[in-house]
Amino acid sequence: MKKAKDIINSKLLARVVMGLAGLMAIVAIAVVVMHGGKTTTKSDSDDGVQSVVAVKSGDTLSGLLTEQGLNNNDVIEIAKTLKSDAGITTLRADNDKIEFYRPSSGVAVIKIVIVPSAWRRVELTADENGAWKCENIDIERDVHAVYRSGEILDGDSFYLAGMRAGIPAGILADVYDLLAFEMDFERDVRAGQKFSVLYEENYCDGDKVDNGHVLAVQFDALRGNVRMYRFRKSDGTIGYYDESGNGAIKSLKRTPINNAKVTSSFSNKRKHPVLGYTRAHKGVDFRASTGTPIPAAGAGRVVARGYNSGHGNYVKIRHNGTYETLYAHMSRFAKGVVVGTTVRQGQTIGYVGATGLATGPHLHYEIIKNGQHVNPMTVKLPAISNLGAEDKKKFLAYREIVDAGQEKLSQNPNLYIQM
Ligand SMILES: [Zn+2]
Repeated sequence: MKKAKDIINSKLLARVVMGLAGLMAIVAIAVVVMHGGKTTTKSDSDDGVQSVVAVKSGDTLSGLLTEQGLNNNDVIEIAKTLKSDAGITTLRADNDKIEFYRPSSGVAVIKIVIVPSAWRRVELTADENGAWKCENIDIERDVHAVYRSGEILDGDSFYLAGMRAGIPAGILADVYDLLAFEMDFERDVRAGQKFSVLYEENYCDGDKVDNGHVLAVQFDALRGNVRMYRFRKSDGTIGYYDESGNGAIKSLKRTPINNAKVTSSFSNKRKHPVLGYTRAHKGVDFRASTGTPIPAAGAGRVVARGYNSGHGNYVKIRHNGTYETLYAHMSRFAKGVVVGTTVRQGQTIGYVGATGLATGPHLHYEIIKNGQHVNPMTVKLPAISNLGAEDKKKFLAYREIVDAGQEKLSQNPNLYIQM
């Protein structure tokens, strides 16, 4: 399936400029029009006579095909072709519609169209020998970039403030995942902070179908204004970059478990809750219930997995020549995570527990930089990927266009950028 058009290449850059130039002329976002629910509609088109059948509960493909006058051989062949060439084995009641085309009324069906997803159309056509051929067609998206902004109020969470700003939940979750590389939502979110998101809405024939990617994020965080832009490099890879073109996605997450409360921070001296005497706390504790999956903070290789009286069940991951992370007090390890295993960022490596010296279930998380424990909340983390000189130039030009667009949209959020 073809991906949504990405704005991030030079050819489309020009279209963004055009879109912005015509911005003042762009009308407000079209209201989604709900289509009415007639079961069968007939109309004449260039393809001859068309009938549309809405699939209802209890309908079967063979039943619907037979109703249209297709014989048993055709029905079997169509079902086989749909499965092998389009991956379609079932129809979705109250969702799928099947279009049948005839050269003229009363003659045999020569074309059948099924739309299994918003962005794919499957066309079956009969050749002169009656054999059925299947074609998958990507449906062109009309992508609008829309802008929403908000402010954290007293007692707010980023999620609540985002919903109030009209950011859809799915987009908010993406933003959350992006910003989690840069900030800690438990400790860095304060009343008065402002944020904005530029994201894609996908339209088809004037109707909004779904949301696409997050294109830009801005968050006025404690450690400074965090800005990220989605950008496609000339080699085709897509990433998020800060305003200077540095890879915005860090190699490690400060908070492996999203939303978990910090119950004990990093310190070189603290009174140990179990031992009772003062000793350094070389990591951060996050409260989470027993069994909560613990995701790897970054991609790497498992270099230790075991038990000791302090850490209980723990896993240590080496991410590169500089960084290692350690996860302690696990109730159990994730299947297949053994010394030598390579893990992805976000992959579950174990589950929260209270093994070892722990007063209750929590994740004890350490970042070790060049063999020294560092504070996961404040350590400056490296960027994952940077741009070459040529891409950087393109990025900076693109960023200026996006910023100018966001500036205009901030004055009138009913406008959008035509991508
Ligand atoms: Zn701890």
